Amino acid sequence: MERNIKTSSIVIDSVRTGTGARLLTLLSRELGIVRAMSPGGARNRMNAAAGLFSAGEFLLYFNPVKETYTLSEASPSFFAEGIKGDLDATYAAAYFAEAAGILKTDEPEALHALLLSALSALDASPENRKKILVDYTWSLLKQSGVGADLRFCPSCERLLALNEVLHYSTKLSSPVCQSCADTDSIRLLPGARRYLIYTLDMPFEVELKVELSESARTVLSAFLTSWISAFSPWPLKSLKAGIL
Ligand SMILES: [Zn+2]
Repeated sequence: MERNIKTSSIVIDSVRTGTGARLLTLLSRELGIVRAMSPGGARNRMNAAAGLFSAGEFLLYFNPVKETYTLSEASPSFFAEGIKGDLDATYAAAYFAEAAGILKTDEPEALHALLLSALSALDASPENRKKILVDYTWSLLKQSGVGADLRFCPSCERLLALNEVLHYSTKLSSPVCQSCADTDSIRLLPGARRYLIYTLDMPFEVELKVELSESARTVLSAFLTSWISAFSPWPLKSLKAGIL
């Protein structure tokens, strides 16, 4: 393996260590999710360059003995300033970053592109965060092959009526009909389901332009965040505060 790796990355987490260095979690277009140490001290300027949610070209040094990455150069082209200036948008971005790590993917390139699109949209219009959250989460689920057809119950394979309320199966991690459900805590109302079916084959940027009422945004963001959380072994930190 090459020791110096140039990669397009997004900083999805940044934690200060005792020594003033930072442990970064990067979503790399080439490598997927990797952890990289950004040294502190005299090279602190790099910690500022590789700030949370920033994105661009990063040069990583790979230590083949320790199997660790160290950040040796950061040239971000996206700084997320609009996000950082808005508290609610910061929570949304933290959720976007956390959700990107939940579902396993063989295509880090597509995941990187989706997260960067979502962060860019949020950065440009922080007030639109709920719609971006809905479209981003739905795109993540679809990209991972989790996005169900929603026209059939995947358990009993029955064709679902358009006005039927969908329930949820924790066993299948999927929406199902009422008689196949094993929990009452997640529900999908008919109007919200129509939106998901309508946008099933749309790329994120196209879906973002589709109108969605304020009440449907609320229903869908609750449903989709519950759905994706079901794939996480622990509760999502970014959802705990209840702000989204
Ligand atoms: Zn069923």
